[in-house]
Amino acid sequence: MDADQLRRYLEFYQDLRVKTLYRQPRSAPVAEAEPERLPESLPSLAPAGDSLFQILEDIGDCRRCRLHEGRSKIVFGVGNEHSPLVFVGEGPGADEDAQGIPFVGRAGQLLTQMIEGTAQKEGIPLKREEIYICNVVKCRPPGNRTPEPDEMEICGQFLYRQLSAIRPKAICALGGTAARALTGHKEGVTKMRGKWFQWRDLPVMVTYHPSYLLRPYNQSAKREAWEDLKKLLHFVYD
Ligand code: URA
Repeated sequence: MDADQLRRYLEFYQDLRVKTLYRQPRSAPVAEAEPERLPESLPSLAPAGDSLFQILEDIGDCRRCRLHEGRSKIVFGVGNEHSPLVFVGEGPGADEDAQGIPFVGRAGQLLTQMIEGTAQKEGIPLKREEIYICNVVKCRPPGNRTPEPDEMEICGQFLYRQLSAIRPKAICALGGTAARALTGHKEGVTKMRGKWFQWRDLPVMVTYHPSYLLRPYNQSAKREAWEDLKKLLHFVYD
């Protein structure tokens, strides 16, 4: 890295410490309405010319937080770098940790069904491989616990860069942890789901995490999640 690159990186991380993913001002939900009038594009805080490849290289054999201690594989993200739609989950589970790919376990299978099934019903030709999927933290929290705030803050710089590099038309936050991390809101997912929020200048739709939908007696939540996805897919692909 030359001196100029180093200066840019230092400036970038200094700026990030002030304006991290989690310290942005809270965006007001745009209720049920589509986010029609978003502000102008915000200047990126990510390094110029950033790419998923560069971000993965910068993550390297990451030991920046305690989550590295129990991980088998870093779960960076999967899918289309140019996708107009990005799904963000909480963090890898056991299957994801073993394979290094997000959402490949039972919750992942349900997510695939939800995306492809809703798209098909709505006449939108869409396969899971065409979108991009990642998590707030890239290493599995022990026993699948919720990631700690410092772990999300440290790993958040990479999610920030992933979203800035892809710049999708919309983001879908899966579950309360991703929703709170991306939007800065503190409400539970039942209050936030089905509504539009923002991550910087990009629209964020919040819905239930597929793991929650796998629990028994969640039939009505399942129906709501399908409604949320319908709204999201029409916004992105119509
Ligand atoms: N749950 C998540 O939040 N992410 C995954 O990748 C798998 C399960």
